[in-house]
This record gives sequence, structure tokens and C-alpha cells, in this order.
Amino acid sequence: MFGGGLAEGTDEPLKRADLAMYQAKAAGRNAMRFFDPQMQAVVSARAALDAGLRDAVQQEQFFLLYQAQVDRLGRLTGAEALVRWQHPQRGQVPPAEFIPQAEESGLILPLGQWVLEAACTQLAEWARQPTMAHLSLAVNVSTRQFHQADFVARVLAALQLSGANPELLKLELTESLLVTHIDDVIAKMCTLKAHGVGFSLDDFGTGYSSLSYLKLLPLDQLKIDQTFVRDLLTDPNDAVIARTIVALGHSLGLKVIAEGVETAAQRDLLAGLACDAYQGYYFGRPVAAAELLNFK
Ligand code: C2E
Ligand code: MG
Ligand code: MG
Repeated sequence: MFGGGLAEGTDEPLKRADLAMYQAKAAGRNAMRFFDPQMQAVVSARAALDAGLRDAVQQEQFFLLYQAQVDRLGRLTGAEALVRWQHPQRGQVPPAEFIPQAEESGLILPLGQWVLEAACTQLAEWARQPTMAHLSLAVNVSTRQFHQADFVARVLAALQLSGANPELLKLELTESLLVTHIDDVIAKMCTLKAHGVGFSLDDFGTGYSSLSYLKLLPLDQLKIDQTFVRDLLTDPNDAVIARTIVALGHSLGLKVIAEGVETAAQRDLLAGLACDAYQGYYFGRPVAAAELLNFK
């Protein structure tokens, strides 16, 4: 187990033992694990991603793409801002590859702050263009970011600094936010709401939502998760879920938007369920702000 013929000190074997112990603990403790090089590879990859993300935050290697949101008639009503990481070696990295880890390491805080400010700047920019001035902008907010003690002040500052209209900013929250500190969450939402900021509940139906909380939250919109939209035409269960979400939303006085709409057939079926708004490749992929100007 020692060094594979290499001359090494005591540090390396101890580190490997430590990693094996960590795995044993992660597996529920009271277990035995041998070190294997794969463990090292996973840990090294994480450390590299963390270091890369840290640099990326400092050097602002991020940019936003915008995906159209349309109403029942297919008219552009706004967009969702989706972050991308322009990695100096790897090129464009999709958020699924770095958001979860940024949440774990806490780097989501400076990253989320950058997104918020960049989005507000874009909103203010649209306000100066007559054809874009009515557009709303949805911004994803991670649970950890929302739980910051000064989150409300940060949002208000971003709005004020950019001059963006709060009525056109829509924060996308996920159901994981509704698990703890619910009173604090409601208080923060109400304060922002009083300033005009809107709220959408993202990936709705995939998490754990207490229906009794749902009616307490000053939400504007439920967003049907794309996993239900994907098989809408082939899986009767998904159609039932979509129908139920629309009915639930409407009975709570909320608008309902479907995400991941890729075909006309999906749009038509959702329209038949009285879904209010749509987002997905059928209408447009996430694009640079300038390209959204060409939306038809
Ligand atoms: P999300 O907020 O649910 O965003 C929707 C995701 O679905 C986006 O992936 C979008 O590109 C993709 N999508 C849109 N239309 C379609 C479609 O018709 N078909 C399919 N198959 N996919 C579609 P993306 O951009 O990779 O983002 C993934 C997730 O990363 C987001 O899910 C969100 O949870 C997170 N994320 C993205 N940007 C941010 C951000 O600025 N802050 C935070 N906290 N999270 C972000
Ligand atoms: Mg979203
Ligand atoms: Mg979503």
C-alpha cells in the first residue's frame, strides 16, 4: 500500500488513509474502506473545480444568456437569465457542472451576486429600448443565496444602482428554499414584494412543497418542471401532473409557466390545460442579449 515503489514520506500514506476514512464515514460510519486511486481523482477534480471557480469569480469569467418567455399567443414577455462560465481552457461550462459545487463551497454567494447585478444592468438597458422596455427578467436565486441575512438589501441595492424597474425583476426560487426558516423566507419575500419584485417557483413538482406554505408565500408564478413537459404526450401521468399544477396555481391566484417546451404538440397540449406562459427550445434557446432583439 506504500508508494508503489516510489520513495515517499509519511504524509502521502496518511493522506490516503484519511481519504479512505472519509469514505467510510460517508458510507454511514462503522465501516471499512480501502483507499483506491479513484477516490483521489474525485477529490482532486473537486479541488480543481473549486480553485477554478474561485478564479472565475475574481476574474469575472461568467456571462449571462437569455431564454425567451412567451405568453399564450407566443408574444415575448420576458426572459430567464442563465449563467455560463467561460473557462479559459475548457471553454463554455454549463451550470449543471458548477452550480451544485458552488453551492456547496459557498462560492454561489459572490457568483449569485454577480448574476443579480448583471441581470439588473440588462433590465435597465432594455428599459432604454422601446421594443424591449416591457420585458421582465427572471433570475435564478439559490437557496443559500436567499438565506443570506442581507439578501433583501442586496437585491434592493442592485436595483437601485442599475436603475432597473423592480416590477420587471422576477426571482426564481426552488422548493428547497421552503424547507427551513420558513418565517424568515416569507418575511424577506414580502419585503421584496412590497418593492414590486416578483417571484416564481422553479422546477415545481420535483421538490417537497408544503401546500400550506404555498398559500402563505407571496408568489406570482409556478414553473412546471421540464421533466413533466418532456413526456407530456407519451406519459399520461405527466399530463395529469401538468394539469394538476395548472389547476393548483390558478386556484391560488398564480400564473403558471411551463419550461422545456420543445415542440408545438407540447405547447398545444399545455395550452389546452390553460397554461399561461411558455419557455423552451421550441420558442428559443438561451441566447446573448443582442440576439433576443431578433425574437419573432
Ligand atoms: P433552470 O432554472 O430550471 O433552467 C432551465 C434549464 O433548462 C436551462 O439549463 C435551460 O437552458 C434548459 N432548457 C430550456 N429550454 C429547454 C428545452 O426546451 N429543453 C431542454 N432539454 N432544456 C431546456 P441551464 O442553462 O443549463 O441551467 C441549468 C440550471 O442551472 C438551471 O435550471 C438553474 O437551476 C441553474 N442556474 C442557471 N443559471 C443560474 C444562476 O444564475 N444562478 C443559480 N443559482 N442557478 C442557475
Ligand atoms: Mg430557472
Ligand atoms: Mg427549472
